[in-house]
Amino acid sequence: MRKSDLNNDFSWDYAPALEGTSHVNIQKKYDLFIDGKFVRPSSGKYFDTYNPANEEKISEVAYGNAKDVDKAVKAARKAYKNVWSKVSPSERSKYIYRIARLMQERARELAVIETLDSGKVITESRDVDIPLACNHFFYYAGWADKMEYAFPNRKVEPLGVVGQITPWNFPLLMAAWKIAPALAAGNTVVLKPAETTPLTALKLAEIIKDSGLPDGVVNIVTGYGDTGAALVNHNDVNKIAFTGSTTVGKIIQESIAGTDKKVTLELGGKSANIILDDAPIDQAIEGIVNGIFFNQGHVCCAGSRLFVQEGIADVVIKKLKRRMDNLIVGNPLDKNTDIGAINSKEQLKTINDYIKIGEEEGAQIHQGSCKLPSKGYYCAPTIFTDVAQSHRITQEEIFGPVLTVQTFRTVDEVIQKANNSPYGLAAGIWTDKGSRIFNLSTKLRAGVVWANTYNKFDPTSPFGGYKESGFGREGGLHGLSAYVNLK
Ligand code: NAD
Repeated sequence: MRKSDLNNDFSWDYAPALEGTSHVNIQKKYDLFIDGKFVRPSSGKYFDTYNPANEEKISEVAYGNAKDVDKAVKAARKAYKNVWSKVSPSERSKYIYRIARLMQERARELAVIETLDSGKVITESRDVDIPLACNHFFYYAGWADKMEYAFPNRKVEPLGVVGQITPWNFPLLMAAWKIAPALAAGNTVVLKPAETTPLTALKLAEIIKDSGLPDGVVNIVTGYGDTGAALVNHNDVNKIAFTGSTTVGKIIQESIAGTDKKVTLELGGKSANIILDDAPIDQAIEGIVNGIFFNQGHVCCAGSRLFVQEGIADVVIKKLKRRMDNLIVGNPLDKNTDIGAINSKEQLKTINDYIKIGEEEGAQIHQGSCKLPSKGYYCAPTIFTDVAQSHRITQEEIFGPVLTVQTFRTVDEVIQKANNSPYGLAAGIWTDKGSRIFNLSTKLRAGVVWANTYNKFDPTSPFGGYKESGFGREGGLHGLSAYVNLK
């Protein structure tokens, strides 16, 4: 519920539009998925997973240790040797297609579980995460039997057993980005989902079982960082595909140095969203809002550094503040909600610490005038003006709904400022002129550059970064090439 009253001359409340949860089946306890079966963790330990929107426990999930990881890798190796490497590419394709169809059939259930476990709004789970996750399986199902077209004149071999580790911000989607191309290329998989959002990966395990995929081709071992580390350090894994923080990415790179494991690292970001003075301003405002407040700002490529050309800065900032006052923060299951819950208590603390740091650094804070629910983890949409390049809030990834706003005079100046970051994942450009788009997009050191849009994803399009945002690409043919040896 909200009262929006920009000029004190009107106000309204929305009636709640809650998504139902009665069709959703969540077990009290989840085991590990190894060799086609749900098995107890060898330590007998389980951890709780919570709904960040109301702090209530949802379920208990198995805490896998090094012994469980070893079991999963052995199952994946056995499945690779005895079954999956002998399955014809067109059969592989059918299995992947079947998984996509089963996911689609259970899309509503998956969307609600994703929202309950992560705090993201239901409209996003329903319209973005789950359809895109299905599309990744559909897309790579199409490639599985066309490797000779994907890599002409090359002999293509799978890598073998791949270990995959995913973060909590797009739980099922990140699992799809990893599993679909790996299977299409003929590998077997051990996946370690993030500890705060393991439920949709476990639902995917059920779907994989229902699909009839041979036992051991996909194994899912839930747990914390030590579970992930056991996977990284296992000596019978041929590749590690990691998506997560730059800090952990560096640890992983050090751990596998000197081994013959392949690695791709999809890490953090601090992306520039650039508004030139000929931009369509109202569309750009929506692009700024989408860039930083989509998924509570828990987006690796979030447009968290806004650059506005000086001549239009006052009007852009004024319009942005008005728009922020209209954003609804609250129950993620309500279809009216724009910004849901922060994923965990720890992440909320990190964001609030950065907000404090921003104020101490002397930046001017403005927060949307929304009312926050009394229970659960919530953060008002926040912008900082009067920021300097050297401020920590400008340089470091906050991973929340917090935007820094800077101005610039010339295109050369903004290129220099935008590239002045340890990261290089994405960027946005808003302008009326194609020539300015070409000029900027070739000079920005960012893996993805969007023009007059933001946060658009497609399975056919490669995604990945430069510098401390990692290396390797996911999506498209590039994403497939990360799972093959080419001779
Ligand atoms: P995180 O690095 O803390 O954790 C990611 C995963 O790694 C989790 O499953 C975690 O359990 C596991 N892990 C933790 N320590 C480990 C270790 N020592 N060895 C192996 N595994 C370990 O990241 P997070 O907080 O879950 O996710 C947020 C981060 O992910 C942000 O920095 C965001 O930018 C990044 N991200 C990047 C992309 C991309 O495509 N570049 C996409 C989504 C998120």
